[in-house]
Amino acid sequence: MSIEINFRDKNLIPIWEKIQNCRRLSMADGVQLFRTPDIISLGKIAHFVQKQKSGDAVYFVLNQKIEPTNICVLACKFCDFATKAGKPDAYEMTIHEILHKLTPEIHEVHITGGLHPDWQWEYYLEMLRQIKANFPNLDIKAFTAVEIDFFSKKFKLPLHEVLRQLKEAGLRTMPGGGAEVFSERVRKKLYSSKIGAKTWFEVHKLAHSMGIPTNSTILYGHIETIEERVAHMVRLREAQDETGGFLTFIPLAFQPGDTGIKPRNQFTSAIDDLKMIAVSRLMLDNFPHIKAYWVMLTEEVASVALNFGADDMDGTVGGERIAHDAGAVSPSKLAKDQIVKIIRDAGKIPVERDVYYDPLKLYAENVIGKIPYLNSVPFYENFEKKQFKILPVNPRRMGILAEDNQIDAGLFSLVDYMRLNDSLELLPFCIATRDQVKSVMLFSNHGWGDLEGKTIGICDDTATSVKLLSILLEAKYGVRATFKRMHTGVNDYSEYDAVLLIGDEALKFNKFGLAGFELVFDLAKEWYDWRKLPFVFAVWAVKKSLPENQKKGLTEQIHRSLESGENSFDSVGQFHAQRVGLSPEETVEYLRGFNYRLGEREKAAIEEFRTLLTKVATEKV
Ligand code: SF4
Repeated sequence: MSIEINFRDKNLIPIWEKIQNCRRLSMADGVQLFRTPDIISLGKIAHFVQKQKSGDAVYFVLNQKIEPTNICVLACKFCDFATKAGKPDAYEMTIHEILHKLTPEIHEVHITGGLHPDWQWEYYLEMLRQIKANFPNLDIKAFTAVEIDFFSKKFKLPLHEVLRQLKEAGLRTMPGGGAEVFSERVRKKLYSSKIGAKTWFEVHKLAHSMGIPTNSTILYGHIETIEERVAHMVRLREAQDETGGFLTFIPLAFQPGDTGIKPRNQFTSAIDDLKMIAVSRLMLDNFPHIKAYWVMLTEEVASVALNFGADDMDGTVGGERIAHDAGAVSPSKLAKDQIVKIIRDAGKIPVERDVYYDPLKLYAENVIGKIPYLNSVPFYENFEKKQFKILPVNPRRMGILAEDNQIDAGLFSLVDYMRLNDSLELLPFCIATRDQVKSVMLFSNHGWGDLEGKTIGICDDTATSVKLLSILLEAKYGVRATFKRMHTGVNDYSEYDAVLLIGDEALKFNKFGLAGFELVFDLAKEWYDWRKLPFVFAVWAVKKSLPENQKKGLTEQIHRSLESGENSFDSVGQFHAQRVGLSPEETVEYLRGFNYRLGEREKAAIEEFRTLLTKVATEKV
């Protein structure tokens, strides 16, 4: 899939060629992108990459910001929020006051604040515990790396112990604040007492290793140079290569306020904001999301940013003070309806999400779900959307959305199609293995027969593979194990005897190995050796209630798209190889290992699976 771009700045052409070949951009490319006057072409390139990653989705969350205190032991020059105890504007919130600000309909609470000189460790833990106890469906995103480091030093606890206790109390993810700009020059001038890049990365990488995904930021538009912005992104990209634990990148436009660093009303320009979003999308090729933080960008710029690389609008953000104390001109809170409208006006699907970016609710019609794995690429690479919009979503979540009548068609996990076949109509396409699959893998420290009573971590994405695992364990090997769901993203696998992973992550670990596990089993190969049948992981289906002409049109579109996808395996392999960690040849070989049409053998395999499912006590996880 490509687009035509009429470049005014010819210097962008080599960069566009790199992007089309899925090659990583260099520092010099990043600087070139910032310096280009051809903002429209830059936006088109970034939007192309955005669509590869997020389809038509733009995410938002119903959230509340809590800044428990503005009293801070530091006095960073760019900060217009912090003050000292005893000053007229100083405030401290009790846990009761914090709870009072939360409501059951929000999904995420975002907690950051000043480094209070006197509060005790127990206060922070109790704050999280009380939030969890009173709002069990609310996910807690709390404490920047600066705060975590402060807790560690003040309470004389190792960083690991600080994070462990916070996680136990209810912490799910961490915000990305405190990064500012990873430049010693800027740090010495603006926030010399604050942690630098070394400690910021140490805290975030440690959090990832403990199964706590985090976010990341840059504060731009003050005294930093273009080169320092790009270097900041390159360091984040390297860290993401190592851990995969960053959920999103959030460019934060500097609000001058009364800091004296810039004149009070000298905000970043809309062009600079849009360049920042677009360059972030292009440099951070391994980051799933780029956020247009409307609080600092304004609603107007944020809405344009949704076609310049950003796929996340943050959320309703009730209670924000840090940016507004520094003079942010945006409203202090946006209603959900307003966010939905902004996203719709940008031509996108408004997707209400949770803290891990799993979709909870869609505000759109005519949505096709797309499994975001390499093996579904032949269906979607050349898909002409016409009246449909595309939502990349993992198989299990697609089933949940379809059950709620929110998805009109898609490549459904087999068990979800079976469960929902009263409302879904089967189309003659599927993802079926011939023998092995390479991307539905059990990583284990025990042979099959020794898994009796053991705990198996199950990735959050799977709906069908987990049932296949139950069948293999029980019906083929005669053992029962305990299944425990792991959330999306980074995980601490050390607590499991084996883990089931699927999709591109499994494909990568199948090639390079998963640390801590000695054995690797391919579930489709186990099935094939046993039943001598292919295994059908997913089938195309469409809502029965759609008009017949739409169903027919969609079937024809899928057929055309698949034919052209199968004819372009070489270019598909070239494009996606680096992303999934395979060589182009391995990528093509992987794609050729599937059958994409539902034939008699595939139908027989589905019936065999259905029969076996009734004979085993598959666990509900
Ligand atoms: S930026 Fe954070 S650490 Fe620095 S003064 Fe403000 S609240 Fe304190």
